[in-house]
Amino acid sequence: MYFTTTRLHQELAGGIFVDVIIDEAHDPLSQYPFKGDVDLDKLATLIKQVGPEQIAYISLAGTVNMAGGQPVSMANVRALRALCDHYGIRIFLDATRLVENAFFIKEREPGYAEHSIAAIVREFCSYTDGAWMSAKKDALVNIGGWLAVNDEQLADEARNLVVVYEGLHTYGGMAGRDMEALAVGIEESLQEDYIRARIGQVRYLGELLLDWGIPIVVPVGGHAIFLDARRFYPHLPQDLFPAQTLAAELYLDSGVRAMERGIASAGRDPKTGQHYYPKLELTRLAIPRRVYTQAHMDVVAESVKAVYDQRAHARGLRMVYEPRYLRFFQARFEPIADKNL
Ligand SMILES: *Cc1c(COP(=O)(O)O)cnc(C)c1O
Repeated sequence: MYFTTTRLHQELAGGIFVDVIIDEAHDPLSQYPFKGDVDLDKLATLIKQVGPEQIAYISLAGTVNMAGGQPVSMANVRALRALCDHYGIRIFLDATRLVENAFFIKEREPGYAEHSIAAIVREFCSYTDGAWMSAKKDALVNIGGWLAVNDEQLADEARNLVVVYEGLHTYGGMAGRDMEALAVGIEESLQEDYIRARIGQVRYLGELLLDWGIPIVVPVGGHAIFLDARRFYPHLPQDLFPAQTLAAELYLDSGVRAMERGIASAGRDPKTGQHYYPKLELTRLAIPRRVYTQAHMDVVAESVKAVYDQRAHARGLRMVYEPRYLRFFQARFEPIADKNL
């Protein structure tokens, strides 16, 4: 499944993004335990259609953010490796939330209950040719990230390019203190008690909302609760930005800041200029790590409930400013007045 900034860079580099995630990922009600899995049949069909030499790499992400923070199974990445080896295709991993992914493997995948989170992360990475990470997610730091590849020559090219865009390869644009914090953050993020508490807090919020009959993506993912705006506002067509409307209503109610993950985030097809109409129309409540208490989760849940109770009154939004790239970050919207209906 696409990720916003990742897909943009793939397209800016001349690539064509093709979604090869399993169908369950697009279904907010599917209870499948590994909704981040690659659909190997879809991938095999694509390889036959375009030829393996036309596929620059498999862009894998554990967990898959846009599907609701859903994990990829170890069995899937192992099978993906075998398929890609057969065709000589490389696999690159977005490891931004891989620790959360590892927690789900430990909890759900047969044979991994006794493995450490660190061992699971290591095995998972062993099936890939390289990885990158936005470290301000799982690695618990304010800023930064890294790129790692197995191939010496590729590493050399990347090391050379980093001086063009970021800074010398010894720091890659990061301050020394941030790199030190990152080293500590990577270690702490792998501690079992930490990751259990982290995912437990997200789950706590999800269970409150489920108890109140509020439509969310299940199973609850690693980093966020995703409200299902289609079921929340069944009277709003996707062109009226139901998920963005929900984010705005929440902010008005309590100041809680959510993120649209629906039609605004999906953007436009660069060829036709038309909106993409994603199946999922979600509002993401991403939970920062080590910031909030259980009581904060209660406040968030109560605000979602208050907005849900008023759902019939929502009228939707009109986009009045649309930036060219990644519009969801900076777009502006206006409420639709009753008379316009
Ligand atoms: C946040 C995120 C990014 C972007 O990282 P920045 O550090 O904000 O530039 C890329 N990929 C994934 C999966 C992310 O969650």
